[in-house]
Amino acid sequence: MAPHEDSHTTGHTTEVTAHRTAGTAASLSRRRFAVGTTTAAAVAGLGAAAPAAPPSRASSPGDSPGPAGAADRQACLAVARAILLLDEDGSELTPRYERILRDGLPRSGAARGGASGASGKKVLVVGAGPAGLVTALLLGRAGHRVTVVEANGNRAGGRIKTFRTGGHEGSEQPFADPRQYAEAGAMRIPGSHPLVMGLIDELGLRRRRFHLVDVDADGRPAYRTWINVNGVRVRRADYAKDPRAVNRSFGVPEKYRDVPAAVILGRVLDPVRDEYSTVGPDGKRVNKPLPECLEGWARVVERFGGWSMHRFLTEHAGFDERTIDLIGTLENLTSRLPLSFLHSFIGWSLINPGTAFWELRGGTATLADALLKELEGLKVPVRFDRRATRVEYRGEGRNGSDGTAHVGADGPAVWIDTVSEGRDGAVVREQFTGDFAVLTVPFSGLRQVQIAPPLSYGKRRAVTELHYDSATKVLLEFSRRWWEFGEADWKRELERVRPGLYDAYRLGRAPDDGSLLGAHPSVPRGHISDAQRVHYTACRWISRDQPEAAGVTGGGSVCDNPNRFMFNPSHRVEGSEGGVLLASYSWADDARRWDCLEDDARYPYALRGVQQVYGQRVEVFYTGAGRTQSWQRDPYAYGEAAVLLPGQHTELFPLLGRREGPLFFAGDHTSIRTAWIEGALESAVRTALEVHRA
Ligand SMILES: Cc1cc2nc3c(=O)[nH]c(=O)nc-3n(C[C@H](O)[C@H](O)[C@H](O)COP(=O)(O)OP(=O)(O)OC[C@H]3O[C@@H](n4cnc5c(N)ncnc54)[C@H](O)[C@@H]3O)c2cc1C
Repeated sequence: MAPHEDSHTTGHTTEVTAHRTAGTAASLSRRRFAVGTTTAAAVAGLGAAAPAAPPSRASSPGDSPGPAGAADRQACLAVARAILLLDEDGSELTPRYERILRDGLPRSGAARGGASGASGKKVLVVGAGPAGLVTALLLGRAGHRVTVVEANGNRAGGRIKTFRTGGHEGSEQPFADPRQYAEAGAMRIPGSHPLVMGLIDELGLRRRRFHLVDVDADGRPAYRTWINVNGVRVRRADYAKDPRAVNRSFGVPEKYRDVPAAVILGRVLDPVRDEYSTVGPDGKRVNKPLPECLEGWARVVERFGGWSMHRFLTEHAGFDERTIDLIGTLENLTSRLPLSFLHSFIGWSLINPGTAFWELRGGTATLADALLKELEGLKVPVRFDRRATRVEYRGEGRNGSDGTAHVGADGPAVWIDTVSEGRDGAVVREQFTGDFAVLTVPFSGLRQVQIAPPLSYGKRRAVTELHYDSATKVLLEFSRRWWEFGEADWKRELERVRPGLYDAYRLGRAPDDGSLLGAHPSVPRGHISDAQRVHYTACRWISRDQPEAAGVTGGGSVCDNPNRFMFNPSHRVEGSEGGVLLASYSWADDARRWDCLEDDARYPYALRGVQQVYGQRVEVFYTGAGRTQSWQRDPYAYGEAAVLLPGQHTELFPLLGRREGPLFFAGDHTSIRTAWIEGALESAVRTALEVHRA
């Protein structure tokens, strides 16, 4: 994540104190940017406001925006408030939301009851990801009658998904060692995310540090993982000291040859950060006092809200193509270049380099287990295997002639039709009714759900246009955590396979016919077929140089082969000598190229990519077991997460979570912290409050 700093980027960006620039541009719509209304003066940061262009599309009656300038300013402030989690009056919502998660919804609300009577409102929650589960929990605890409707046949958690044996979903053993588990989706929780940290502790889940950067024996960052690009392999710490070889390999101009990519990037980001924060005497950034901070963020949104990352790096930062290649490759920005600058910038700003990350023992899915258990205690039903296909709701002045025959003055306010997966051969339909519904389905998936009467024009556009990114992981299991090895460990273990093998690998003379795949005695037999050996041989990396032992705990390597980012587990799994390596974590185009391959076909390529970085010899520990997850191809997620296009923050964001009659909208995509569990929880608290008070 680190990928996952943006929605999961590398997170090695370094904070540096810098000079300040200022200035705003008034152009906010991506459409207006597309027709090139931004002036050179605005680009140069001279504060010259570009003339406001007329709205470029027709609005339907009743949904018309105000004058362009006024609406834009309000939109910028709304986004700025969402970034800081402030309410309309500018007061901080975080402490309030934390309290609600801990102590429940305010007492008033439930007692009033809904259309169905005094025993609370009858609420349908669609989707059992973290947003849906927590909305249901809060409403259930407040005495409302809640039913959760989930498309997945047997699993809650949504994009929280752990490959594991058992769990509430009763998974079959995914790896050769039944104790091993690994994350398909969310894997780390930033300590600076108060809602999810509070919930984890309240539920009594066991957490421990997630090492985004590899650590030494004392747990301090060691930066010993590899950078392997353009044929140059160097440890991160060495790159920070002497970036020349890597930077030259990209052909960056002389002025950047001796500057690490993160520092080059940091220098252009700092003046933007100066808008809302300052650098304290200890070198750490702190937000300015609230009204100033809010205004500062609004200026950033106003100026850069319509910019892509590429535009920022070229027009604002003035970088040449090669420098962008360098930063893009090392800082995980290549895949984000056409996407919103603001999305990545917000991610970097809310998670600073000093942020500690956490993981859940037993996997992130233990959070879903615990939430399900709470719901069970409250007798809130979670109806698995029920995919919502159609939603009808009671709109103003509707009489059923517009496809809303199942709702009306005498009927329920919401009616939802669902269908099962039909895994066991029988496909069933079931209908649910309620006073209200909370839809947590990602908008990429909501696009397939018919809603009658049609949602407002703005919401329909948001459902249609909100951009989702792709992300794909390929995980490989090894019977030993060889990435932690020193040379002596390698020698000892390889000699156990066959005398002389250690030197054979070092000299590039070990056979490359697949015969050594899983050859170590610790690898359980029976997982590697002859066909697999042939595939691995066909895919093997052509050069066979053997770098020194990695000797790392946690952290990850970056490379320019298709694997792009590799992550080592931060901890050993109790009782197991082995480990599951996140052999490839990629986004956008990088991910979609993996997605073209069937699951089984991905593993030999992923192993090859690992071997290019760490050497051929890792093959002896490969158990033949792998797992992979394409979020773009996932039938329940419809993508990794909403990663907005330039302009979508100001155009669409204010519409995402807005209520439409008895329909409420939650999910991380309705929060500015999209692609984080924190965003999902924030949306859950907001929506539960709205329903509670409706
Ligand atoms: C690769 C990856 C890595 C990530 N890493 C991290 C991380 O390290 N840390 C972090 O905090 N966050 C991370 N995230 C983000 C985090 O997983 C999400 O923010 C979070 O899961 C969003 O929760 P949600 O409830 O809004 O949506 P989801 O989790 O997507 O839940 C939506 C639910 O709706 C259900 N559904 C869909 N369609 C229908 C339908 N028609 N009818 C009924 N049900 C339906 C789905 O099955 C699903 O259960 C990661 C995400 C991905 C993909």
